[in-house]
Amino acid sequence: MVSRTTEDYEKLALAGCEAICEPAFWAGFDRSSAAGFYDYFRQLTEYEPKRAAKFGIKHFSWLCINPKEADDPGFAREVMSIIPQFLDCPTVLGIGEIGLNKNTRNELMIFEEHVQLAMDRNLPILIHTPHLEDKLKGTRLILDSLASFSKLDRGKVIVDHVEEHTISHVLDAGYWAGMTLYPESKCTPNRAIDMLEIYGPERLWMNSACDWGISDPLAVPRCALEMKKRSHSAAAIEQIIYRNPKRFLSQSAKFIL
Ligand SMILES: [Zn+2]
Repeated sequence: MVSRTTEDYEKLALAGCEAICEPAFWAGFDRSSAAGFYDYFRQLTEYEPKRAAKFGIKHFSWLCINPKEADDPGFAREVMSIIPQFLDCPTVLGIGEIGLNKNTRNELMIFEEHVQLAMDRNLPILIHTPHLEDKLKGTRLILDSLASFSKLDRGKVIVDHVEEHTISHVLDAGYWAGMTLYPESKCTPNRAIDMLEIYGPERLWMNSACDWGISDPLAVPRCALEMKKRSHSAAAIEQIIYRNPKRFLSQSAKFIL
């Protein structure tokens, strides 16, 4: 987790975490060259698995140029040309987190080129949806775009950061939906549990936001505790925090626990 401390890995290990999958995302600043991404992909595929392994945690990653830095197609394609040389790394699961940030035409074009890359390699896809007021519009744009890929295996795609107003769009279209948990803003544990109770656990998982804002790597175990308080069974908790992500991620042959 490039944005987190080593102590966070230790806390996750103490909470019983077996594996982490980390998407390629924004570094807190826009990188000045494609070489910056080459170094970042090395960090994700070489250093972070070693750092996690010290605590008995398996570390997997997703690669892409994130939507926040993908609005310049020339630059984005330069970065994308680096990705194939990392795709055979033993811990790289697929392409992500791709998606939209400001819902621009360029972002959408680069998004579609990433989807094609994933399909060409038969890889799972992790999709970021924009936060706050652009979320519904961005989710609709993403789903419309995905619908144009007639050969896409929808079961291999997870649309992340769903909220109450977008989750049904994603599930109804046949994709997996990810609920990204934050301590206070966006989706909190209790809101995630509300959605789980309404929509059921099929094709749904939750993940802890571990970004540059206020976020908490232990958000998933905290949510599990909250589920227990709300009388969810141990089996139901295990399904949403363990078996579901394992089922989705095992579509990559590299995901072995
Ligand atoms: Zn994201």
